[in-house]
Amino acid sequence: MTPLTQKTGPAPNGVRPHVVVIGAGFAGLSAATLLAERGVRVIVLDARPRLGGRATAFEDRDTGELVDNGQHVMFGCYRETLAFLKRIGAEGNVQTQPALAIPFIGPEGLRTELRCPVWLPAPLHLLAGVLRWRGLPLTDRLSALRLAPALLRLGNQSLDRSETVLGWLRAHGQSAGIVTALWEPLAIAALNQPIAQAAAAPFVRVLQEMFSTDKTAASLVLPKRPLHEMYAEPARAFIESRGGEVRTGALARVIADDSGVTAVEVRGERIPATHVISAVPWHALRTLFAAVPPPLASTIADASAMASMPIVTVNLWYDRVVMQDAFVGLTGRTVQWIFDKRRVFGEAASHLSLVVSAAEAVTPMTRDELVALAVREVADALPDARSATLIRATVVRERQATFSLTHGQPKRPPSLTALPGFVLAGDWTATDLPGTIESAALSGHRAALAILDSGYN
Ligand SMILES: Cc1cc2nc3c(=O)[nH]c(=O)nc-3n(C[C@H](O)[C@H](O)[C@H](O)COP(=O)(O)OP(=O)(O)OC[C@H]3O[C@@H](n4cnc5c(N)ncnc54)[C@H](O)[C@@H]3O)c2cc1C
Repeated sequence: MTPLTQKTGPAPNGVRPHVVVIGAGFAGLSAATLLAERGVRVIVLDARPRLGGRATAFEDRDTGELVDNGQHVMFGCYRETLAFLKRIGAEGNVQTQPALAIPFIGPEGLRTELRCPVWLPAPLHLLAGVLRWRGLPLTDRLSALRLAPALLRLGNQSLDRSETVLGWLRAHGQSAGIVTALWEPLAIAALNQPIAQAAAAPFVRVLQEMFSTDKTAASLVLPKRPLHEMYAEPARAFIESRGGEVRTGALARVIADDSGVTAVEVRGERIPATHVISAVPWHALRTLFAAVPPPLASTIADASAMASMPIVTVNLWYDRVVMQDAFVGLTGRTVQWIFDKRRVFGEAASHLSLVVSAAEAVTPMTRDELVALAVREVADALPDARSATLIRATVVRERQATFSLTHGQPKRPPSLTALPGFVLAGDWTATDLPGTIESAALSGHRAALAILDSGYN
């Protein structure tokens, strides 16, 4: 890798050009706000009309409600994300559970709750929660104890790189019952990939983050506002208040020569830049350049070869309240989670948001087929929905929601690249985490620190 310092001599006129950040999702905005906080002038460019990237919201045509492009859930262990929210004054836009508590509705319609006691340290609170959980026969619950040694020494695990999540769970004595009822829903939510395909390493990393630190690390953190309002607009205000700029509808191209990055072109304007953070997804990296710069050839080839995984969301508006919980996990069904946005957002929203992660099988279904499936499963799981009238339904297919975690995928790149001045961020870069908000925020902070550490400001 070429050290960034090659690009950080004093500016000829004493005024440094802006650092240009391309992409206004969690990665780009966490990078840009960290730089702005340290006094660096930044320009953030995003091709789309609204900020937020894969974590955003749009206005529903009929109801005027702001609807997320898909429900996003964070955890107490999202340290970089929570630091970012705190920096921009948006920590009040999320609510955090005191300790992990998840209501589940099983295939027979029985509602149970996995609730980890707040008074026990991690990971014992999880084991105690599972042992008390009525959602499973006792023999299955007891198999969780066999995971205790692995949870307690998670930091020291050396994993067979070809092991899948399912293989790892079986190797740690988890019964088929607890895998189906607990580990599979958690793993699919965290990894967006079937457990028989997904590599074990990122899942073990997630468990390590959630269960081997403090007990709120496993608590769910829910956005209390539509996603772009929750973090992206506060980030914009933060950047602008520090003399930076945030532009939407701004498709960017990077200009580079043998010495490295020289400018960014946007809508016919050339912005001089010696330092650019790319915070675009894996499949968009190639489009940043008219021609692939030779130092980036292998990075771009690897990024372009990464496979993607879809998430499908069905939003349903009923004529009355049909669920008592803010959210519920479903097992043994196609829909994995139902969120009542009214209970999460307040009266500004009145729809249910139904999540299907690892949605390869349902993505090709028509809108009507997906809505019919969702309505059937809601009626099966929630008795109050059976007598309610469906007023409206929408479907959001995010075909490139996350990158694939199967074995044989290309290597994920570090922040520093071989092109001087060009730094990578994005959930898909080498954070060891799955494609999550936390991975994006961590990558953004790393990219910003790489520029700061090179003596930029
Ligand atoms: C439906 C759904 C549900 C999810 N649920 C969860 C969840 O519950 N928990 C969780 O942690 N994660 C979840 N994720 C994953 C999470 O959304 C992503 O990991 C995260 O948002 C990625 O952020 P990012 O900044 O790396 O990339 P992105 O958000 O993709 O941002 C990249 C930005 O780059 C812009 N861009 C691309 N090319 C250009 C260009 N040439 N010029 C200018 N701009 C450009 C794009 O417009 C985009 O805004 C979910 C994702 C989806 C889609």
